[in-house]
Amino acid sequence: MNFMNLPDTVTNKKLKKIAVKVFGEIPVSKTDALYMLSTNDILDLGKISNFIRVKLHGDAAYYGVNMNLNFTNICELRCPLCAFSRDEGDKDAYLLSLDEISRRVETAVLSGIDEVHIVGGLHPELKIDYFEEMIRRIKKIKPDIFIVAFTAVEIGYFAKKSKITVKETLKRLIDAGIGAMPGGGAEIFSPHVRNIIAPAKIPGSRWLQIMRTAHEMGLRTNATMLYNHKEDIGDIADHLVKIRRLQDETGGFKTFVPLLFHDTNTGIRARRKTSTGYDDIRIYATSRIFLHNIPHLKALWMYLGDKMAQVLLRFGVDDFAATYYNEKVVHAAGAKTPDYGSETFLKRLIENAGLKPVRTTANYWIK
Ligand code: SF4
Repeated sequence: MNFMNLPDTVTNKKLKKIAVKVFGEIPVSKTDALYMLSTNDILDLGKISNFIRVKLHGDAAYYGVNMNLNFTNICELRCPLCAFSRDEGDKDAYLLSLDEISRRVETAVLSGIDEVHIVGGLHPELKIDYFEEMIRRIKKIKPDIFIVAFTAVEIGYFAKKSKITVKETLKRLIDAGIGAMPGGGAEIFSPHVRNIIAPAKIPGSRWLQIMRTAHEMGLRTNATMLYNHKEDIGDIADHLVKIRRLQDETGGFKTFVPLLFHDTNTGIRARRKTSTGYDDIRIYATSRIFLHNIPHLKALWMYLGDKMAQVLLRFGVDDFAATYYNEKVVHAAGAKTPDYGSETFLKRLIENAGLKPVRTTANYWIK
């Protein structure tokens, strides 16, 4: 593609106007987002979103070699959207002991991981000292391991249960060794949808407030958006607007991660069993174009399927996620992908798309 004339390469009239803005580094509007979320001209969407990816990252596509640690599935909230959580006393409820966590991390470290990704249920009996000890033990096993841990929902809950502020909670976890926060729990901010899919979860405004605090303390985070359940394109555009607005103020989001909802074993019947390929492309390309101020866009191959995730590398995605050894959450909801992708598997998909695989961690090696 000749980047000197991006707008000339776009044929759809409305998308051409959007291309002119992108080319001139002018943020696109919510109306533009609504149009992009409904257009069938995905090739033009691809030209614009790919332009941004190349401009930001050249031919690099990032991936990580990590393990997933879902330390408990016991959760007080029991959100209807969740297939993973259990009540205490259920026969398949579990809470990993700190010794068991150490054993699992030691095994994964021997296989060469760079990073541990930690999220879990909201267990009513666990307080901040348990999580500090967990992080310290992991750091002891491999001092340079990168730890990306605890969603804004978990941080808010730990603070409440431990009767300390969010700031104090974050400070203690940073001191123990966490390097970044995942972006989970954002779901979709619109209250009328959130009240159906996760009525007991903190509202979107609180999620954003906790992220603001994390960013102000120097912690870089992801932001997610769950789609393909009860939302419409207005809810998606509204979500993107709120993320972009906070990013304008803090600059702390490093990566945006749209998450495809799977409804198996959940209390939600999605409007459609699964999204179509065009839906995924519209969501990812629009996210890339609208969130001009967030450097990375991540596709989780486990949620999307490896083939669709690979295609999205030409629709704005520059981060192909990670190996995620032992992932539990999306597989509880019926994802058909394996729960472990080898490094070879990820590199092959990236190289086969004509891009250069770059092994990294959730912080992209930025110290
Ligand atoms: S989505 Fe998170 S907070 Fe909600 S029930 Fe599942 S584990 Fe708990």
